[in-house]
Amino acid sequence: MSVKQNIKNLSQDDLFEFIKNHKQPAYRAEQIRLALYKQKIEDFDEISNIPKSFREELQNNFDIFSIKIKTVRESSDGSVKFLFDLNDNNSIEAVYMPWYDNEDEKLERQTLCISTMAGCSVDCAFCATGKLGFKRNLESSEIIDQIILVEKYLRTKITNIVYMGMGEPFLNYSNTIKSLEILTDPNFELFSRKKITVSTSGIAPRITQFATSPRPVKLAISLHATDDKTRDYLIPMNKTFNLEVLMNSVEDYYKATKIPITYEYILFKDLNDTKEDIKRLTKIARRVPSRVNLIPFNDISFTNPIGPANTLKSANRQEMEVFAEELRKNQIPTIIRETFGGDIEAACGQLALSEEVKKVYNFS
Ligand code: SF4
Repeated sequence: MSVKQNIKNLSQDDLFEFIKNHKQPAYRAEQIRLALYKQKIEDFDEISNIPKSFREELQNNFDIFSIKIKTVRESSDGSVKFLFDLNDNNSIEAVYMPWYDNEDEKLERQTLCISTMAGCSVDCAFCATGKLGFKRNLESSEIIDQIILVEKYLRTKITNIVYMGMGEPFLNYSNTIKSLEILTDPNFELFSRKKITVSTSGIAPRITQFATSPRPVKLAISLHATDDKTRDYLIPMNKTFNLEVLMNSVEDYYKATKIPITYEYILFKDLNDTKEDIKRLTKIARRVPSRVNLIPFNDISFTNPIGPANTLKSANRQEMEVFAEELRKNQIPTIIRETFGGDIEAACGQLALSEEVKKVYNFS
């Protein structure tokens, strides 16, 4: 892959500057941006409404894509996992998940779970990505190109985006916001704000800041525990922004946006599944309009974890049903989220980690 600058990383001002330096009218900027994001061009020669000589200048100076698909794995449940190569040999993942209507089995929505970092610095006890360590933040082009390349590969239109893949979006705040500005720009007709969810492990100051960003989207909190001791153990970030600090920022977010919150809650056997947890989770979820997604734990024993992750066990389906029913009795909307791609290492970081293990140990 060449190492020219990626055009999608240029700010509006930088693009105007380039255009001005090449003695082109200012409206070329909008023509280029529409071609990149609406038409989703693969070559500058496809921009037929700008002069050939200027197309050549673009070609000489910029790349259009910043990542390329390395591996694709299709699951029997319809989900597809993509492993991408970055320019510097790091890898990231995205997972496509089709959702069907229960009654007439019509394809209802097509969700793509995307990454914001190569690896992750947060190191949650239950997460394979955390075991990779932090490699680097993704550029906004690398965030957006996951969507464009998957749409091209699958020849489909993704309907929903979740920032829930590798990395903590709010520790790559400026590029997460830049990518959201493109994805929700009405000129490009890509996604409405209601179709995008950003999931965070709880970077409280950024949640407060996000509340006042120009186009905030839906927010999911990776909660997973209802008391600080358990949350410290599962999500080390809780030692910096504890539950009370986190909840205050969630209130800020709701006050400013009026968008209900989703709490993600992996139900672990004998850890966060007690009657006290139901009481505390109810109290948390009542602070602002919210719903709870209960999630089964994806085993990460293949990472050979040490410490807490070694002892984590998922609650079984019946235990999840009971926990969900108790929350519903307390008027908390609760669903049990289906897992996708058990046969293709679809949980966050699993495929990238297994590829990394192969690289280190020279497995094919
Ligand atoms: S769950 Fe998210 S924040 Fe935690 S280590 Fe994994 S990628 Fe990072």
